[in-house]
Order: sequence, then C-alpha cells, then structure tokens
Amino acid sequence: MLPVGRFSKTDAWIAGTWTDPGARFRVINPATGETIAEVADCGPEEARRAVEAAETAFRAWSGTSVYERSAVLWRLRDLMLEHREDLARLMSLEMGKPIKESRGEVVYAAGFVEWYAEEAKRIFGEIIPASTLEKRILIQAAPVGPVYGITPWNFPAAMVTRKLAPALAAGCSFILKPAEQSPLTALALAELLHEAGLPPGVFQVITTHDPAGVSQVILDDPRIRKLTFTGSTEVGSKLYAQAAATVKRVSLELGGHAPFLVFEDADLDKAVKEAVTCAFRNTGQTCVCANRIYVHEAVAGRFLEAFVEAVRGLKVGDPLDESTDIGPLVDQQGFDKVKAHVDDALRRGAKALLGGTPLAPGGRAGGYYFAPTVLAGVDAAMRVAREETFGPVAPVLTFASEEEAVRLANDTPYGLAAYVFTKDVSRVFRVTEALEYGIVGVNDGVPATPQAPFGGVKLSGVGREGGTYGIEEYIERKFVSIKL
Ligand code: NAD
Repeated sequence: MLPVGRFSKTDAWIAGTWTDPGARFRVINPATGETIAEVADCGPEEARRAVEAAETAFRAWSGTSVYERSAVLWRLRDLMLEHREDLARLMSLEMGKPIKESRGEVVYAAGFVEWYAEEAKRIFGEIIPASTLEKRILIQAAPVGPVYGITPWNFPAAMVTRKLAPALAAGCSFILKPAEQSPLTALALAELLHEAGLPPGVFQVITTHDPAGVSQVILDDPRIRKLTFTGSTEVGSKLYAQAAATVKRVSLELGGHAPFLVFEDADLDKAVKEAVTCAFRNTGQTCVCANRIYVHEAVAGRFLEAFVEAVRGLKVGDPLDESTDIGPLVDQQGFDKVKAHVDDALRRGAKALLGGTPLAPGGRAGGYYFAPTVLAGVDAAMRVAREETFGPVAPVLTFASEEEAVRLANDTPYGLAAYVFTKDVSRVFRVTEALEYGIVGVNDGVPATPQAPFGGVKLSGVGREGGTYGIEEYIERKFVSIKL
C-alpha cells in the first residue's frame, strides 16, 4: 500500500507537472491480489502534450554542458542508493520480486546511472585524415533527439535506467511508458530525477492502460526521433514497423530462449549453483533465464541429482519476506502461460522431478504462485523447449557431443543469452564463437553488468544497452568536411 517511504505518486509526470487525466487503472500486488494503487490512465491527449514538452525540453537540454548532465545523473544515482530500501519495497509490491533481489536491482539500476554520469564526459568526436591537404574531415557527436522508451515489468528500475541514463547523458529528452503492472517504480524515479535537478519535460512518465493507443500517437509524431523498447518479440516487431513510417532510430531488447550447456569436463558444483540462479532468479521471469539446460549424457545423472536438491532448497513465499527466493508470477496471464507450458510438457512425456503444479503458500488466496519445477525427458517439440516460459521452470535435456550441443543451442529463432560450462579453454573459444547469441556466460550464470553491451541477435532484437556501445544508440554522427 502507498505510501512506501517517501513514494506515493500515482499521477503521470508530464511537462514537469503531476497530471491527473481523470481515468485510473489498478496496480495489483501479485502475491495477494490486492490493489496497491490506482494510477493515472493517460490517453492520446496526454501523449500529445508529452511530445510537445519533450521537443521543447530537448532544445534546452541538448544545449547544456556534459558536466551539467553528469552532475544531475550523479545526484540521481546517490538518491537511488539513499532510497534503496523504499524503491526495493515498491518494486516487490507491484510485481512480486523477492525483496533480496529488488535491493540488488536498485544497485544494478543505479550502476547504469553511475556509468553514464561518467561516460557523458567521454562523448568524443573525431578528426579523420583527408585524402588531400586542403581538406579536414571532422566527425561531430549530436544527440539523436526526443526519445520514446517503453519498458517491461520484470525489471521496473533497471530497464528504465539502462535506457534513460545514456539518453540523458547524450543530451536527449525522454518520454517513458512503463508497463501497466509496474508504473510505481517509474514514477518514483521521476520524483528522484526532479529532486536531482533535471529540468521539466526532459524526463516524462506517461502511465496508461492503453499502450497501443498512446504509443500510436507518440510514434506517429516525426518530432520523436528514437524508439527504445524492451519487451516481447511480438510487440517489439509491431513497434519496429510503426516506427518505420517516420524513419526513427530503433533499439529493441526482445525475448530470448537461452541454452545452458554443461559439458562433461565442467565443474559440476559450480554449474549446478549457477544454473539454479540463472533459471530461477526473478522467479524465472528474465529474458536471459536458462530456458533449456543441456547436459552431456556422461554427467547428466549426477547433475540432475544435485540440481533437484538445490532447487528443492529454494523458499517460496511473500516477496517482502527476507528469506523468500521465489515469489509469485506477475499476473494471471503469466501464470496461465507457465501452467500451459508445463502441462504440455507432461502430456508429451516429460517428467516433473520437482514441482509441476501451482502453489498457494500459507493458504494465501489470489497469489499467482507456481512451484519451482525441474523437468526431465524434455524434447525439442515441447513448448518449454521452443517458447519463452517466463516462470520457475527448468527443462533439462541431454547431448552426446560438442557439435550436437552447439547445433541444439542454435536451433531457435532467438539469440539473446547462452551459457557454457567447461574447464577446457579451447572449447571456450570454439563454442562461444559458434553460438549465435549476443551474450555468452562462460561458467557464469549472471553476466549482465552496466559496463558491458547487452542485447540480442535474430528475434531477440537490435542494438545494445550498457557500456560505451549503449550511448551510441542515442548519438548521431555528423560528418563535416572543411575545404581550407
Ligand atoms: P510486453 O511486450 O507484453 O510488454 C512490454 C511493454 O510493451 C509494456 O510496457 C507494455 O505496456 C507495452 N506494450 C504492449 N503492447 C503494446 C503495443 N501494442 N504498443 C505499444 N506498447 C505495447 O512484454 P512483457 O510481458 O511486459 O515483458 C516480458 C518480455 O520482455 C519477455 O519477452 C522478455 O524476454 C522481454 N524482456 C527482454 C529484455 C531484454 O533486454 N532483451 C529484458 C527484459 C524483458
């Protein structure tokens, strides 16, 4: 229930004003089914005002010095860490992330702000040697323009700062449309950025229960020069087409289907530990969660035994409880999808070594809980082996050779993250080079970090977020030729 510490805003943040459009939609705590807030339900009118304000604010913000922008970002980073506990509680309440992980996400999200507070000062131009002596070739860096960002609910803070921090550092203004399930963390970030000294209109949050209608208005407007989206491939590809009409720059961070390869020479204890974190963190609701765990047949028995024991140790419970490892799924739709995937696998002959059914811990009614599940005997035709399940489900399969492991790993239209567990350094190079993925963790189940480029290939998206590459997504390179 609101307030959570200092955070109580439920209006949209448009043109530097908390805006009440009249209509409201509910934000539900997925652990209890209770309404925790009624948030501003914006429509086309608010969308038009936001575009207007973003355009005006862009002119002023793009004219500030990088040191000024850096100072605002540093203040935001400090405020996020100062209010870490309240931000974490807000997140856990609105989307069910276990509180330990929510605290970790605040630090991760603030890490992007810190990185780009520093990187703002290193947006360099270039001078390129010309072919003749009377010419000089300059490359200047310019911000891309007003940006429209759409984010998912699974990382309510980090998916925002991973886009917003480089955009602000580059000199862009930014309209954010957070997911309907998790608008409160986004509104809290707006409050903190205002306190950090960001001028009105540079960052706006348009909350809505009609993402398609609001997005249509914003995407049709030629003044918005960039779309950055994180979410499902289905929605992302539609937005890609919509953005084409006004030829906007586009970054898409979409779905994945991550293979997790455990070779016969792997450190099995480590592989088990990392597989548990990789498959079950955020209750299995991350785009880089292990979706297919492939284990070499010579060690599959030992791996499975230890893996099942480790998963059995995960504690399901209230996201606000300190000891909880697994919370509820985000909503009815997420819950139904997980159940349908598991039922499909069991019907086609897979075996649940653990879980396989919905749960209602402590007799709690209304919570979207599903038991941590380990499936053996999975084959490639099952939905769990082909589609993103987005839940606490780990399908385990086997392979007989390195060549087969790579072939199976690449047998998907997705290409976000893959994982390789081996002690053989030559194999590390062979396999990482052969995997068609944007991110590969070697003996590492959680590779994402603010200073590295995150993103996918194939149906997993275009563009990169994080590190030096992430800021280029918000910069135009202008070529200036000077004849002396
Ligand atoms: P989603 O695509 O349903 O929603 C994402 C966002 O798009 C939300 O803000 C939603 O309101 C908005 N949206 C939905 N329909 C829209 C429309 N027609 N027009 C404009 N906006 C629309 O995805 P989700 O369920 O919120 O998030 C889960 C998905 O996100 C998974 O597929 C996951 O893999 C992906 N994801 C990817 C990354 C990455 O970095 N690649 C990170 C996190 C999540």
